[in-house]
Order: sequence, then structure tokens, then C-alpha cells
Amino acid sequence: MDKVYLTWWQVDRAIFSLADVLRDYKPDVIIGIARGGLIPAVRLSHILGEVELKVIDVKFYKGIDERAERPTITIPIHGDIEGKKVIIVDDVSDTGKTLQVVIEEVKKRGAKDIKIACLAMKPWTSVVPDFYVFRTDKWIVFPWEEFPVVARE
Ligand code: 5GP
Repeated sequence: MDKVYLTWWQVDRAIFSLADVLRDYKPDVIIGIARGGLIPAVRLSHILGEVELKVIDVKFYKGIDERAERPTITIPIHGDIEGKKVIIVDDVSDTGKTLQVVIEEVKKRGAKDIKIACLAMKPWTSVVPDFYVFRTDKWIVFPWEEFPVVARE
């Protein structure tokens, strides 16, 4: 699969654009999905100011060459979100399965309203975020990820 590399500058511009629209929504809580959603979630929480930041970790279980049908929650949301306006933040909605599990969990915990914000989405996702900036069918490499060196042979 082709790769597209995003720079810190592009990602920061994207987060500021998301913050602009999310300001009108006036969320009580931001929930960042580990790991990819954490950097955008932290940055958004600083830009927006009066908002609580919470974390959830979701993993696809991997056996030998295996992916589970559904991702599972490995770090649950701490504290109370009942009756709150929540923004769920992730880096990218790809299959959308991670977001499906998180949305279900946030609903179960009694959130009053839920919006999804991602930096990027893939055209085939089952969960189109309420707000996103980039749309691509390529594999995205974020600036906090590895940039592998190619060694000349
Ligand atoms: P899902 O398939 O459940 O929507 O995506 C699960 C997770 O896989 C995302 O939160 C993200 O961390 C990772 N992922 C999916 N597609 C990409 C991609 O193109 N680039 C990177 N860096 N991570 C991805």
C-alpha cells in the first residue's frame, strides 16, 4: 500500500481547524483513543481550554497472523461521563471498528451527546467522523511515528 507522510506542521494546522469547529460544540469531555488519538486529543484540550481529557485504549487482539473480529477495550474510560457532551478523538478512521467499539462504550456510560473528530478517514470506513481533515486511501504515516531509513546495499 502506498504511504503518505504528514508533517507536524500539517497535523497542527489540522488540529487547529478541528478546534475551530469544536469550539461551537462546547464539549465537556475529550476522549482520546490510545495511541494514535492521544497527541491530537491533548493538543485539542489545550486549544479548547475548559474541557476534561480522558483516555481509552482499544486493541485488535492479534494471535498468530490473526485479528479478532472486534477490537477490545484494554484501558477503560476513567470517571463519570454521564450526561456529558463528549468528543471522541482518533488519528484515523480506517475500518471504523475501533470507533464503533468506543462509541458503543461511551453510549453505555451515559454520555448525553457524542461527536467524532479524526485527523483523517479512509473512503471505505464504516464510521465517517463528524469532523475530519484528510481523506485518503493510502497508509498514513504521522509525524510521531517511525520514518524508516533505507540503507543503500
Ligand atoms: P480502524 O481500522 O479500527 O478504523 O483503525 C484502528 C487504528 O489503526 C487507528 O486508530 C490507527 O491507530 C490505526 N490505523 C489505521 N489506518 C492507519 C493508517 O493509515 N496509518 C496509521 N498510522 N495508523 C492507522
